[in-house]
Amino acid sequence: MGKKKVSNNQVRGISRKRMAILVTMSEREALAGNMVRAKRYMELARRISGRNKVPMPPRAMYCHRCSTPLVAGINCRVRLREKKVCTHCLECDSIKRIPFIREIKERRTCRQEQ
Ligand SMILES: [Zn+2]
Repeated sequence: MGKKKVSNNQVRGISRKRMAILVTMSEREALAGNMVRAKRYMELARRISGRNKVPMPPRAMYCHRCSTPLVAGINCRVRLREKKVCTHCLECDSIKRIPFIREIKERRTCRQEQ
């Protein structure tokens, strides 16, 4: 009995599908207020991501430290500060900063065209 060979491409496809389902479930639980379950689903999605070297779905918003799905107004605070979007996780107090330099540049070029 040989082990059935599954190509890396197939693994990636399956991983992506399962991660998308887990992220959706996690967000649903977070909105319902069930944070323990929401966290668990996000952890599972991240585990698939790490094990199969597949990036997390781009729309997934989660805390990189405690895996809590971040829903603005429920468990995270979003502020704009010095050309960065600061997402403050209220569960573990970690802050994620994402620069939005590209958007600023785009706005500048738009103005020049007008
Ligand atoms: Zn956190």
